[in-house]
Amino acid sequence: MKIGFIGLGNMGGPMAANLAKAGHDVTAFDMSAAALDKAAAAGITRATTAAGAAAGSQAVVTMLPAGQHVRSVYLGDTGILAGAAPGTLFIDSSTIDVATAREVHAAAGERRVSFLDAPVSGGVGGAAAGTLTFMVGGEEAAFERARPLLEKMGKNIFHAGGAGTGQAAKICNNMLLAISMIGTCEAFVLAEKLGLSHETLFRISSTASGQCWSLTSYCPVPGPVPASPANRDYQAGFTAAMMLKDLKLSQNAAQASGAATPLGAQATALYTMFEAAGAGTKDFSGIIQMLRGRLGS
Ligand code: NAD
Repeated sequence: MKIGFIGLGNMGGPMAANLAKAGHDVTAFDMSAAALDKAAAAGITRATTAAGAAAGSQAVVTMLPAGQHVRSVYLGDTGILAGAAPGTLFIDSSTIDVATAREVHAAAGERRVSFLDAPVSGGVGGAAAGTLTFMVGGEEAAFERARPLLEKMGKNIFHAGGAGTGQAAKICNNMLLAISMIGTCEAFVLAEKLGLSHETLFRISSTASGQCWSLTSYCPVPGPVPASPANRDYQAGFTAAMMLKDLKLSQNAAQASGAATPLGAQATALYTMFEAAGAGTKDFSGIIQMLRGRLGS
């Protein structure tokens, strides 16, 4: 299949490489020459504009930083929707706000082309290994057309529902993750003050009602889960800055929809403080150091 790919950063680079490795004819564009050089080495053809990457493609995947970049690439007279051939399938895997995703869905509908919002989880490691989780919003028929491509980049592919529900799933999940991580960190900090060892709290809570993924798969103290970033001085993993981006999206969506998310708001405030203290590039589980009052030590 002839595929256009726009946005070859930490995530998009390895995702596009996996499509090329699977035998697809991939033409890509990024504003960074270094990203294009790397892609060329993986067998990807360079384009000089986003429209050039999209031209003649049956499917186009975009992996851009935020909503404003998605708008500028898709919309307007020079956007990739303007020149799209009927029947082209567009898949946006960037994590962006639900409102922008729905706006692009509507614009695609006017042009009689298909669009899916398809954000991912699984990080840079998952992008390289082709094991990402895709959360997809859009029409069922478009989802079924996209599935074989998404399976070349990911392992778990979910159809979340109509326009924007992929982005909704992503921000709801990550808001829950932030809250559960902070709660897990607080439990360990309190245990330290009360003379209860990390190992003992882990052994009890991982089989009791406090059990959650932040504890059992991504434990924020060293020891109980050897693969967790706590064992390597909170080297990311999933950076606190990325978590804060997703939390802000969740709070904008909560405000726009009238949902009460007081713990999501508190988690956003805590990660804002963590980033302001210079820890944005640390893993998000490193927030335990701030709760201990030991940032930087
Ligand atoms: P990145 O900053 O590494 O890559 C973004 C790329 O887009 C860059 O190479 C940049 O040059 C390019 N770009 C920006 N504007 C462009 C334009 N107008 N035309 C063409 N190229 C343009 O970011 P990333 O880590 O690859 O993340 C991409 C998206 O995936 C973000 O929305 C992020 O929230 C989401 N995400 C990231 C991770 C992660 O662990 N990195 C995990 C899940 C989801």
